[in-house]
Amino acid sequence: MARDLYRWLVAGARGHPADRHLFACILAHALGEGERPLAEALGLSAAQLATLLQSRMPHALSLQIDAGADGEAPQALEEPDLRALLIEHGTAGAAEEVWLAHMLARRSLGANHLWQDLGLTARSDLVDLMQRHFAPLAAKNSRDMKWKKFFYRELCEREGVLICKAPTCDVCCDVAHCFGGEDGEPLGALALSQTRQLSASA
Ligand code: SF4
Repeated sequence: MARDLYRWLVAGARGHPADRHLFACILAHALGEGERPLAEALGLSAAQLATLLQSRMPHALSLQIDAGADGEAPQALEEPDLRALLIEHGTAGAAEEVWLAHMLARRSLGANHLWQDLGLTARSDLVDLMQRHFAPLAAKNSRDMKWKKFFYRELCEREGVLICKAPTCDVCCDVAHCFGGEDGEPLGALALSQTRQLSASA
């Protein structure tokens, strides 16, 4: 189901090819979960979702019908702070950055690697997203820390909260928790090879 949704979404999407792939993955995965209204699954207000669809996926405007009520209300204390951190470090102040900041903050509440909970096909998709849309923040993750760990460490540092058990990562017993490949399979039906093939041909 999610793969068919991805195919449909990416085929009519507008914008940078990499963004067409990203948004099609994220929306297809959220729709495929079928657990909650689309706006809530993405952490977007109803107005933001409508604008995203109108400007980037006009063929999918019907998704607004099932989008549900405003999904912007925070579901965790740190969610607004993470949104703000991302928006503050946006590359160009583009609308995509705000939508993605909301999506990243909401999907960071999931139990899996962030790239998986976003519905992306590989961690490299998330690295690309961060480097193109949140370049100043991506540059701060120069040691390629796990993305959720990195976000929460940034938030804690801003609040003056000390979460690290050692003065440097090199001598810390938690290094395996903070760094590593974030390996895994894509969630749902978005099989990596098929989705990339579809993305390349879109
Ligand atoms: S490895 Fe240790 S010092 Fe480095 S970020 Fe993680 S908790 Fe902090």
